[in-house]
Amino acid sequence: MDSAVKKSPLKAIRQKCLDCAEIQPHIRRCEFTTCPLHPYRMGKHIFYRKAKPDNYRSPVKAIRAECLDCCHGSSSEVKRCQAESCALWHYRLGKNPFVDPEHSQRLRERMLKARNSASDRENSIHTVIET
Ligand code: SF4
Ligand code: SF4
Repeated sequence: MDSAVKKSPLKAIRQKCLDCAEIQPHIRRCEFTTCPLHPYRMGKHIFYRKAKPDNYRSPVKAIRAECLDCCHGSSSEVKRCQAESCALWHYRLGKNPFVDPEHSQRLRERMLKARNSASDRENSIHTVIET
């Protein structure tokens, strides 16, 4: 894979699984459930808008865990990794370098605001019903 091609974290995981397919030809039936990438091996976010399990990891965090496994737990080795052709390379530090931090902060604030006003609305409905 050409690392210059920007792929989303899910697409990068999918690519990594396709690269791994020489060892594990049936990605859908991959039995390596301990592989951090396993939940996302089909390139889909299976937890999107669903209850998350206790051991939930986002796709980027799953990539980070995979990179740590790859480097025997050494975060400095992950940082120094020079395998730029690896599909996971851009995300190896557990962050998405293609997301503008200010933009994601704005999104977080907007979501929080929407959530708070929804809960305020719910509270005022309860107050009206109780009175
Ligand atoms: S989930 Fe892990 S072991 Fe399975 S195909 Fe993907 S990279 Fe390979
Ligand atoms: S990006 Fe580097 S550390 Fe991560 S899986 Fe690929 S080769 Fe290993």
